[in-house]
Amino acid sequence: MAVHKIAVIGGDGIGPEVIDQAVRAAEVAARKHDGAELKWNHLPWSTAYYKQHGRMLPEDGWEQLKPYDAILFGAVGDPSVPDKITVHELLLPMRRKFDQYVNLRPAYLFAGVPCPLVGKKPGEIDMLVYRENTEGEYAPVGGNLYPGTENQIAIQTGVFTWKGCERILRAAFEAAQKRPRKKLTSITKSNAQVYGLGLWDDVFNTVRKDYPDVDSSSLLVDAAAMDFVRKPEVFDVVVASNLFGDILTDLSAAVTGSIGLASSANINPTKKFPSMFEPVHGSAPDIAGQGKANPLAAVLSAALMLDHLGLAKSAAAVRKAVATVLAEGRVKTPDLAGTHTTTDMGNAVVEAVG
Ligand code: ATP
Ligand code: MG
Repeated sequence: MAVHKIAVIGGDGIGPEVIDQAVRAAEVAARKHDGAELKWNHLPWSTAYYKQHGRMLPEDGWEQLKPYDAILFGAVGDPSVPDKITVHELLLPMRRKFDQYVNLRPAYLFAGVPCPLVGKKPGEIDMLVYRENTEGEYAPVGGNLYPGTENQIAIQTGVFTWKGCERILRAAFEAAQKRPRKKLTSITKSNAQVYGLGLWDDVFNTVRKDYPDVDSSSLLVDAAAMDFVRKPEVFDVVVASNLFGDILTDLSAAVTGSIGLASSANINPTKKFPSMFEPVHGSAPDIAGQGKANPLAAVLSAALMLDHLGLAKSAAAVRKAVATVLAEGRVKTPDLAGTHTTTDMGNAVVEAVG
């Protein structure tokens, strides 16, 4: 039986609660549908760990993580400690240290989930957003002149490299090729940001020649924001820079129902380093410890992990189980206007998988 080693970092707030349910669903699916065993190792790295040890993870923490096949991550963040420590010591460095340059965020409108847009049918919104995860507008390059004075000048530099643009664009094109609609939209703003997004467009126009079977086009980010609301059904694979991808995926999550359903993957496609799978939402301290969190974002993130591990049948089984539970509508957490608990929802998914 194939064995896959997974590091589990539940983290803070609702993180551990939702991750527990994701672990259960993935384990049942892997065994039943792919005959694979998932070996979990729970790591206690969190705000509580920080308060005890003065750091979010041990000194050799990154080395400890390297041998794993994947990392399943809940959320970090606690009102008692600044994000500058929690998020900036654990979550953000992981994406860079492990070169997880693909941030994949699917948006799918499930049956049984209320959509804020009028007249959308289940399955009609079905897109994969590929967000660049290591450079662009979020490059830590810049500084201040005359800080603390009325003359202060802040400079924030976007860093776009040919290599960085090419690898995210190629990952998106590869994904588009495997989808029935074979459609790709590249998000840009090169009319205003002529250097960075100008390079992005140049690389797009070069790379697209290698994928003549994909119907690809370029769209300005402001027009894209409008179309994500007006006609999200036209999008299939969308590829965007770090900042634009960040903003557009909050929008795509909103138009497909609840933040409690939005999943994500931070992938190193070379498999040189482990990839990390996490719900889009944060630690939600306002509902932590009350059994109110919807675990489906974490469960769907675990399905992305199963895909990455090559367990495609298990991944499909988890997604189908989630779709069935939502469509039946018997079990609903408060974010879906129900009264069921995190565990109730986890139980329903495990039952549907099995
Ligand atoms: P971060 O800064 O870590 O991205 P945040 O503080 O902006 O996170 P969240 O922690 O995601 O935001 O919480 C935003 C809101 O969404 C809160 O009201 C929270 O209760 C709700 N929420 C987040 N995740 C879930 C979930 N899985 N189920 C139900 N409600 C959720
Ligand atoms: Mg927060």
